[in-house]
Amino acid sequence: MQPYTTADFSRNPMMFYYETTQACDLECRHCRASAQKEAAEGELVTEQSLALLKQIASFDRKPHLVLTGGDPLKRKDLFTLIRFAVDQGLEVALTPSATPLATREALAQAKAAGVRAFGFSLDASNAETHDAFRGLEGSFAKTWELLRWARELEVPVQVNTTISRRNVDQIDEMAQELADFGIAMWSLFFLIPVGRGVEEHRISPVEYESVFAKIYAHARKQPYAIKTCEAPHYRRWVLQHGDHPLHVRRNVSDAATVRRPMHRAPLGVGDGKGIMFVSHRGEICPAGFLPIVCGRFPADSVVDIYRNHPVFQAIRSPDQFHGNCGRCEYRYVCGGSRSRAFAVTGDYMASEPDCIYVPNEKAVLVLP
Ligand code: SF4
Repeated sequence: MQPYTTADFSRNPMMFYYETTQACDLECRHCRASAQKEAAEGELVTEQSLALLKQIASFDRKPHLVLTGGDPLKRKDLFTLIRFAVDQGLEVALTPSATPLATREALAQAKAAGVRAFGFSLDASNAETHDAFRGLEGSFAKTWELLRWARELEVPVQVNTTISRRNVDQIDEMAQELADFGIAMWSLFFLIPVGRGVEEHRISPVEYESVFAKIYAHARKQPYAIKTCEAPHYRRWVLQHGDHPLHVRRNVSDAATVRRPMHRAPLGVGDGKGIMFVSHRGEICPAGFLPIVCGRFPADSVVDIYRNHPVFQAIRSPDQFHGNCGRCEYRYVCGGSRSRAFAVTGDYMASEPDCIYVPNEKAVLVLP
């Protein structure tokens, strides 16, 4: 696949998250959706969901589609939606919740409908911590059962882990367990205090740096890919400390130029910049964790909103960020989490609250 460019991102998201429903039988402490047992009033009906999928497929570059929730298995028309999305040429991933609805048969049906990957949430290396997170005894065991079924069905798995104060000391153990099991991708999500993702579970900005070091060490040795979610400053950390350290030179204007040789330019993917989200009610937002409603499907077009809405355009303009992020030499590859800035300060253009880096205002990051 051709890498995305900045020009692509101004027209097309790379990842499209459709929250098919808010309904879910779990009561996770950090739930973004503040999910509830039954579907909420106003949930897009089948016809509307199909129309949305058709519109998502009309981007110049079709995004990867993640059908999420709530628990997508609570949607009775889920397999119809999957089949339709696949017929539209979309690559579909599914994130079922670890409840009794997630049977081996349901996963097999999802695969038969065309799902290319599953995402499962695993938040600890032991049942006690994980089940406390998820608000359901037996959830840890169920998640491992799902992982085994996905492996039997030969569907690649992404494990999603929310890093918080409760599990930050279990990263190494989890990394090894996942390596022994054989997953495709580990996605570490850094808590945003929205929904039930309460403030007191956030790790401190200083702790991020040591967590980044751990993640990087595992990324170099584990057999699966690792990515961070809502921690774009991991890219800054890698550029600073990774295998190919930055070279700093002085140019004629006496501005320090930071050059990173031998690597393809990393393009920062973030809320509204490569990512788009539509809620169960059709609310169009830059991300699930950035609940600024920029339009409503079907009245508004997701293509038009992504390309032209002032909020989307602003968060793709790092020079306009406020505070440290706006003057940071890493702002084009990082730019901070717009979701966390909004959740903590109420200003989506504010500086990333969980980054300790002090920008070098004379530095210019030059990427090949
Ligand atoms: S100050 Fe902002 S742009 Fe710079 S590294 Fe930190 S989060 Fe990223």
